[in-house]
Amino acid sequence: MNLKLQQYINGKWVGANSENTRNIINPFNQEIIAVVPEGDESDTKEAIAAAREAFDNGEWAATPATERGAVVRKIAELIERDTEELAYLESLDTGKTMEESRGDMNDIAGVFRYYAELADKDGGELIDSPVPNSISKVVHEPVGVCGQITPWNYPLLQASWKLAPALATGNTLIMKPSEITPLTTIKVFELMEEAGVPSGVANLVLGAGGTVGQELSDNTDVDLISFTGGIVTGKKIMQAASVNVKKLALELGGKNPNVIFADADFDIAVDQALNGVFFHAGQICSAGTRLIVEESIHDEFVNALVERVKKFKLGSGFDEDTQMGPLISAEHLAKVEKYVEAGIKEGATLAVGGKRPEDPKLQNGFFFLPTVFTDCTTDMTVVQEEGFGPVITIEKFSTEKEAVKLANDSIYGLAGGVFTNDIAKAERCAAKMRMGTVWINEFNLYFPHAPWGGFKQSGIGRELGRLGMEEYTETKHIFQNLKPESMNWF
Ligand code: NAD
Repeated sequence: MNLKLQQYINGKWVGANSENTRNIINPFNQEIIAVVPEGDESDTKEAIAAAREAFDNGEWAATPATERGAVVRKIAELIERDTEELAYLESLDTGKTMEESRGDMNDIAGVFRYYAELADKDGGELIDSPVPNSISKVVHEPVGVCGQITPWNYPLLQASWKLAPALATGNTLIMKPSEITPLTTIKVFELMEEAGVPSGVANLVLGAGGTVGQELSDNTDVDLISFTGGIVTGKKIMQAASVNVKKLALELGGKNPNVIFADADFDIAVDQALNGVFFHAGQICSAGTRLIVEESIHDEFVNALVERVKKFKLGSGFDEDTQMGPLISAEHLAKVEKYVEAGIKEGATLAVGGKRPEDPKLQNGFFFLPTVFTDCTTDMTVVQEEGFGPVITIEKFSTEKEAVKLANDSIYGLAGGVFTNDIAKAERCAAKMRMGTVWINEFNLYFPHAPWGGFKQSGIGRELGRLGMEEYTETKHIFQNLKPESMNWF
């Protein structure tokens, strides 16, 4: 592997102060694919100090936005140049298919390009002043030192949503990728160095959430935390971040409904329902794991779905005919198994799957069969909790009002879908669904221009789009009196 396998602090590639290391495991066969430094609080403090110094010296923030944009654009070009290597590393690390990883890399380059274009488009604005002979203007400035914490399911994609807008707006940062999938993030730091990101501006610390992540959240020299991950961790970070009232952007979990009306195009709805949930073995925050199907087509829909699921090809992400890879880890596999057991105990009917595959070739990997539960009700754990595996639950409805009520019956509000050929009905549902994204006759589509984030307990703030850039800026009002006069009050 042609990769530095180190942390990047203050412009230098370094091991962990403790000299501890962590083995990175291939989820397809449990082989060790890399050994990386296991940083802790002391490495994190050094990285924070470097980012603080780089922000406080003011050079990066004062670099003309056009030049910052050019550096961000160069990163996009280098990602495009090294796409095959990056996709290979992502598939090795996560088990996802090469086709998915190539798609991710294309999207990631697009995110860097999008923010490169936006970098110099915000020159501030003059606003109307009630005072004669004055100038009143609103400008946006970088927030400061940003702690960025990412999960293992889309390692580099999630990192790109944070790195690109932070750099474009003149912040400095410390990135902590998930400790189990750091490879592509390390590679992109190599590319960021090559693209000319100055020393200290972007720092990479590798290590666990309880040490590195916690230090980023606790440390009063960090001005903003942008976190993508689970709700339990998100709540801990929110609490820790209150120590110096850090700005917070939280992209948390989802339990996303996909409502299928009887008047939808049947075959397209079946196909999209499958893509909606089984992509990357269901390990997607926006996976449409809660199918809500109109009663009159329910049985036919379930049959069609189950027939397709039975034919899925599980295997290595590097085999061209593989449709679904393994889960990320032994720990996560055990979690998904427990979640499925809970569904059975609570009375859901197992229509297909529900266990590990018997194929001898898959025994060393963390595989779980694609699983469909029918006869589900909203009070079940499998309907309410995020399982983050290849598991779909199916509920029935008979009226539009009931469909919307079911769809909204969740603590989460990340995303949802509606399939129908009645556009007025689709619009009514979309207006009432309490989620950050609603897809009509589509599922799981995102692109850099559209904001991404959650209602309710799916998070705070937005990534992507202009809003994803605004998260990394403070707004300042500057008022200038051109003809000051004494007030003669005191
Ligand atoms: P996780 O919460 O376990 O870990 C995420 C990151 O937080 C990791 O880097 C981890 O090391 C770190 N962390 C753990 N404990 C910490 C602590 N005490 N302080 C600071 N950092 C800590 O999540 P995961 O299992 O890696 O990822 C899966 C979750 O991510 C799912 O819930 C999924 O829905 C969510 N996710 C959300 C989005 C979104 O856009 N909303 C996107 C991808 C994933």
